[in-house]
Amino acid sequence: MAYVLSLDQGTTSSRALVFDEAGAVRGLEQFEFTQHFPRPGWVEHDPAEIWDTQLRAARGALDKAGIAASDLAAVGITNQRETAVVWDRATGEPIHPAIVWQSRQTAPICDELRARGLEDEVRSRTGLVIDAYFSATKIRFILDAVSGAQQRAERGELCFGTVDSWLLWKLTGGRVHATEYSNASRTLVYNIHERDWDDVLLSELRIPREMLPEVCDSSGIFGEADPACLGAPVPLAGAAGDQQAALFGQGCHAPGTAKNTYGTGCFLLMNTGAEAPTSKTGLVTTLAWGIDGQVEYALEGSIFVAGAAVQWLRDGLGLVADAAESESAARAVDDTGGVYLVPAFVGLGAPYWDERARGALVGLTRGTGREHLIRAALESIAYQTRDVVECLERDSGLALGTLRVDGGACRNDFLMQFQADLLGVPVRRPPLLEVTAFGAAALAGLATGVWSDRSAVESTTEGGTVFEPRMEVARRDELYAGWKRAVERSLAWEE
Ligand code: ADP
Repeated sequence: MAYVLSLDQGTTSSRALVFDEAGAVRGLEQFEFTQHFPRPGWVEHDPAEIWDTQLRAARGALDKAGIAASDLAAVGITNQRETAVVWDRATGEPIHPAIVWQSRQTAPICDELRARGLEDEVRSRTGLVIDAYFSATKIRFILDAVSGAQQRAERGELCFGTVDSWLLWKLTGGRVHATEYSNASRTLVYNIHERDWDDVLLSELRIPREMLPEVCDSSGIFGEADPACLGAPVPLAGAAGDQQAALFGQGCHAPGTAKNTYGTGCFLLMNTGAEAPTSKTGLVTTLAWGIDGQVEYALEGSIFVAGAAVQWLRDGLGLVADAAESESAARAVDDTGGVYLVPAFVGLGAPYWDERARGALVGLTRGTGREHLIRAALESIAYQTRDVVECLERDSGLALGTLRVDGGACRNDFLMQFQADLLGVPVRRPPLLEVTAFGAAALAGLATGVWSDRSAVESTTEGGTVFEPRMEVARRDELYAGWKRAVERSLAWEE
């Protein structure tokens, strides 16, 4: 039996899973780590704590699986995307806390880039929009915040990396400074068409090329783990950002295939193959992965509030004791009685991109009860997903066949059935929900012969539950038209 260790470095915890060649989980360990909020809207992590929790999780997962590092064929890495780390090349010491993807501390740098009229340049070169979410303005922030850092970076004394790079550096004892296509494409300074760091954007942000990692295939040998880490020199053979790893782990390897992860928010990615369509609807274009020197692209739409709407029912309104209870409550009524919840609690993301939108609850009558509100909250997740799917189809020119799903809220059968009904396509939930970690393991296992080709990877993700659309088209269109009217009421609310 061959085993692959997957390191799943997330925003709130570091996890490690051992997969066997049938795709089954043999061992799992997980440690939470500290979230630092130095000012409102700022989020930082301690890179040393990321490394420490990740290493302990890796060792723990091996213990739980009852195997040694020498039994591993490969290690794969998947990570919270966009988070930026800068460290000293000689000592390996970070010079500043990691600035996390969620952090808004670089919004003023983004304003400046917009004022310089760089929006179209950024979109055409990187596929992204100017937003504090992406890495490059975080690098600029760190080089400004630490005295002398700009000069040190120019002399080649500093390294930048997203979290995959940081882990590769630590795992190889500082011998490898590398990343791969999916993570590079989230930095805002990587040209996704030319496949190189973009000199125009680097110079706009005064980021020296000397500090950037080498960009490698997502599936391929990056180096060997230092035996001091895991006890044996295992090949580090795959890496991808979390959403791209989930796309790969879901078996979305053909153009037009797509997955939606239903967590706090939703991340919907569609594989567009060798094409990199420029979005006209507010999606971003991103690199999905690179394998054998060939890259594939994806379109991505982000929904800010999805499962978080259910958390609000629980914590804000006290309407449910736990998230799972939302399912039976929603089923207790035939429909919402015309009620719509638009959960624009932090504005709306794709495709509206309205920072001033705020939540709206419309269509209330004397007959509206608790179950109607709960059902409306769940349905809002499916409506927002349909909004993004329509954009994906328009931008890519591809029709969605089946939507593959994962993330905490995909356990809700009511929601998945309603999603299938509303999209008019089947929704497929895989048997194993650890698709993100599996995606990284699959990239590493492909590079080391654990799986011979992608079809062997896909066969491990077969089965699961398929929700077939059952709703009549007229009913679906009527419900969706109501949603669009409700969204109108929420837009540009904050003055
Ligand atoms: P994240 O990775 O963003 O923290 P998870 O994938 O762990 O999120 O999913 C957690 C989210 O899913 C929470 O917002 C929770 O409200 C929601 N959730 C979990 N179970 C259910 C359920 N059965 N029905 C609806 N929502 C759920």
